[in-house]
Amino acid sequence: MMEAVRTMLESVGEDPEREGLLKTPKRVAEAMLFLTQGYNQSLETLVNDAIFDEGHNEMVLVRDIDFFSLCEHHMLPFMGRAHVAYIPNQKVVGLSKLARIVEMYSRRLQVQERLTRQIAEAIQSILDPQGVAVVMEGTHMCMAMRGVQKPGSWTVTSAMVGVFQDDQKTREEFLNLIRHKPNFF
Ligand SMILES: [Zn+2]
Repeated sequence: MMEAVRTMLESVGEDPEREGLLKTPKRVAEAMLFLTQGYNQSLETLVNDAIFDEGHNEMVLVRDIDFFSLCEHHMLPFMGRAHVAYIPNQKVVGLSKLARIVEMYSRRLQVQERLTRQIAEAIQSILDPQGVAVVMEGTHMCMAMRGVQKPGSWTVTSAMVGVFQDDQKTREEFLNLIRHKPNFF
């Protein structure tokens, strides 16, 4: 990867041997491995034994989970907030694990639509709940810094499973609970 970064530096007209850039290939490679460390994590290991039989069957919502990801088309960052809810079927998972699941799938090359769906499916698969809802609000550097150059635009994606898909009242309750103006920056 360091060789590839050197090639990129040369390709944009830089001198990889100048002092400020000497360690850049190493830094970029380390940063890239950090930003994609979700490839080395698995849902099973992450959740471990943090699933509890609580007999709790009301909505559990964690909102405003910050996420940082890289778009797979440009390898540029997109970031924002995720709101994750589920209605248990007896089984619940430790609340911090919901944020960890968002993080694991975010730290891969992604498109926001798939990322949203993967988080919902992961929760569905570990808990078999009555339903799962995930809404993500993201701002994409490939749209803000290049392309249409529209900073301040927000992409909103959602994935609804089970009762959140089938029951309008449940879905509306969730949407009311997460209603707010995005103010990430
Ligand atoms: Zn992109």
